[in-house]
Amino acid sequence: MKGLPTIISLLLASTFSLAQDAPPSFKSTEVAPGIFVLEGDGGFVGGSMTMLVGDEYNVLIDDGISPLAPALLEAATDLAGGSIDFVINTHVHGDHVGGNAAFSENGAVVYAHENIRKRLLEDPADAGGPGGLPVITFSDQVTFHVNGLDAFVFHVEHAHTDGDAVIEFRGSNVIHAGDIFFNRLFPFIDLDSGGTVPGYIAGQQLILSLADDETKIIAGHGVLATKTDLQTAVDMLVDSQTRVSALIDAGNSLEQIQKANPLAEYHDVWNWGFITTARMTETLYRSLTDN
Ligand SMILES: [Zn+2]
Repeated sequence: MKGLPTIISLLLASTFSLAQDAPPSFKSTEVAPGIFVLEGDGGFVGGSMTMLVGDEYNVLIDDGISPLAPALLEAATDLAGGSIDFVINTHVHGDHVGGNAAFSENGAVVYAHENIRKRLLEDPADAGGPGGLPVITFSDQVTFHVNGLDAFVFHVEHAHTDGDAVIEFRGSNVIHAGDIFFNRLFPFIDLDSGGTVPGYIAGQQLILSLADDETKIIAGHGVLATKTDLQTAVDMLVDSQTRVSALIDAGNSLEQIQKANPLAEYHDVWNWGFITTARMTETLYRSLTDN
């Protein structure tokens, strides 16, 4: 959880100051029949969201940051042409579960990995309050059979956090990766919430194994991606880990490693406000030294 309030307030501050108090709106793109990606237009609205829209049920995967929950509720209801029946959370962070309470109040049933509920029981604020707690939890996997589609939801252990889920839309060749994938952004690997670098890499490799050259991969942050984009992200992370590991083996401290800047060649593409090159280096250092 550490760091998330910071990113949200930071991004919100920049969002609203740029837009002079006009909050961002939402736009949708249909990536396969009945499967839409919802994203912010004019500012940060949270992590990527995916919607299944059809005759039987409307399903929303992740629901943004809580300040924008009323706007998201309206946008999602408009797109669906009715209320949202199910919400699935990919992990516990406040930019992915912020609308839980608002959607629950409006009749949606929230599904999530059991560790998300455990963490939200301690601090439900990120989900919009106690009303945002997941109602149905799973430990390993669950499948939604709706609108003629199969949405296979499966847990990936100790990757971005300890409660991550990936959703594979079987038959539609779409995968919602959640924050196990940041496209062209250094990834946030939340070591303080049960995430690990080896688990993160293993999760990315698992998603790669499910994808082909036509697969549309929805990253938790960053633009709609292909298998090549995900391969590029895994290669970057594995190489970065190797570089930091070599400097640790040579006896360097974190400060010395950050000064040597072993990730310099990745800076221009991957560095961003929340996970800077220095912070990525620190995450790898902490992971490799168990600090
Ligand atoms: Zn996250």
